[in-house]
Amino acid sequence: MNNQNLFEMVKQHLCSCSADLALSPSVEAVLKLPVRELHVSIPVRMDNGTIQAFQGFRVQYNDALGPAKGGIRFHPDETIDTIRGLASLMTWKCALHNLPLGGAKGGVICNPKEMSVAELERLSRAYIQAIYHIIGPDRDIPAPDLYTDARTMAWMMDEYSRIAQKTTFGVITGKPVSLGGSEGRETATAMGGWFVIREAARDNSLDLRGARVAIQGFGNVGAPAALIGQEQFGCRIVAVSDSSGGIFAEDGLAVRALVSHKKKSGRVHDFPGARNITNNDLLELECDILIPAALENVITMANAGKVAAKMVAEFANGPVGTGADEILHGNGIPVIPDFLCNGGGVIVSYFEMVQNANFDHWDEKEVFRRLEKKMIEAYRSVRVLSSQNQVPMRQAAYSIAVSRVVQAMHMRGWI
Ligand code: NAD
Repeated sequence: MNNQNLFEMVKQHLCSCSADLALSPSVEAVLKLPVRELHVSIPVRMDNGTIQAFQGFRVQYNDALGPAKGGIRFHPDETIDTIRGLASLMTWKCALHNLPLGGAKGGVICNPKEMSVAELERLSRAYIQAIYHIIGPDRDIPAPDLYTDARTMAWMMDEYSRIAQKTTFGVITGKPVSLGGSEGRETATAMGGWFVIREAARDNSLDLRGARVAIQGFGNVGAPAALIGQEQFGCRIVAVSDSSGGIFAEDGLAVRALVSHKKKSGRVHDFPGARNITNNDLLELECDILIPAALENVITMANAGKVAAKMVAEFANGPVGTGADEILHGNGIPVIPDFLCNGGGVIVSYFEMVQNANFDHWDEKEVFRRLEKKMIEAYRSVRVLSSQNQVPMRQAAYSIAVSRVVQAMHMRGWI
C-alpha cells in the first residue's frame, strides 16, 4: 500500500474549500481530527496451536450526520493514518451523496494470504469482540474492504449477533445475498461511476459510443468497470492493467474473454490480440476517459503533465496526488473526484441497511434505478457549484459535503 499520505492529502483538500465556506480556524481544526478511534490488540489461536496478537483499529471520523459507515481492511502494511484518511473520505462521501451516515474505517494488520480460512474466521470474530461496544446498526456499520469479503461479513455479523443474542443483519453490509445482502453490491461502485461518467460526458460533448477508455486496475472495481463500460455504455476499452502491467488493443479488448484469461493466468499480460504495455504507458495513453481503479497517488506532479486523456474519472480512492490536480485542471482535463465517482458502493450498502430494517429485498433493477438517481443528483450538485464558483469539481464536492457536516454539527450544538 502506498497511502501513507492519504490523511494529509484529504486534510489539504479540506483546506481548499474552507475559504469558500468561510470556516473558522477552530471549526477547520475540528474537521481535521477523528471524533473517536479505538486501537485493539487481538489474540488469535493459530492452527499450529500458538497464540498470535494482531493489531487492529476502528476510526469513527465524524458521525454528525448519522451512524458511522466504512469498510474493514486486512493488510500487512495497514497504518492508522491510512485508516484515518479513508475514514475522513467516507465522511465526505456519505455527506455528498446525502446519506444519513457518518464516516468510519477499520483495519487489522495481518497477511490474509498466509492465513488459513479457519484462522481468518477466528481473527474476524475476535476483531468484532474487540470493537463490539462501539459498533451497531445505530452506531457504526462496517462493510468489506481490502482482503475482506461477503464471507468475512457473514462471520462478523454472526459474531455480533451471538454477543447481542439476536440476529442483527443491520450491523454490517456487504453480506452474502442469502444472508441479508443486497443485490447489485458487487458491481455497485463501477456501475455508479459509469452513471456519473455518462453525465459528465454529456456536459463535455463526448459521445460514449466508441469512446476510447483506459482503466488502471482489474480487481473488484476495475474488472466490472471494463465490462459495464463496454457492454452497457458502448465504450471501447482500449487498455487495462493490473499489478503485473498492462495491455493495449486499438480496436478494443474483448473484456469477457479477458476476465477468463485473468482468472486462468492471474494477470492481464499476454492476452491474445493485445500488446503488452507498462502501467505508466497506460496512464499517458491518448484516450477519451482514463479510469484509475487501483491505487492512490498514481498521477503525480511527475506524470500529470503527460496525461493525454480528455477526462479522468477517479474510481480508486486518491489516485490523483496533491499538485497533480492543478496540472490536470490547468491542462483543461476535468477530474471527477473519487468520493463523487466511487460512491456507488456505500450507496448500495445504505440500501442494504434500508432493506434489512424493513425485512425487504429489492431486485437488481430496483437497486440500480435508485443508485442511478442518487449518483446523478450528487453529480449535478457538484457540477452546478463548480461552474458557479469556477472551481474544480473536487473543490466543489468538498464544499457541499463539508457544509452539510458542519451544519449538522452546528444543529447538534457541537460547534
Ligand atoms: P482490488 O484489490 O480488488 O483490485 C485492485 C487492482 O489493482 C488489482 O487488479 C491489482 O492487480 C491492481 N494493481 C495493484 N497495483 C497496481 C499497479 N501498481 N498498477 C496497476 N494496477 C495495480 O481492489 P478494488 O476493490 O478494486 O479497489 C480499487 C480501488 O477502488 C481502491 O482505491 C479502493 O479503495 C477503491 N474503492 C473500492 C470500492 C469497492 O467497492 N471495492 C469502493 C470505493 C472505492
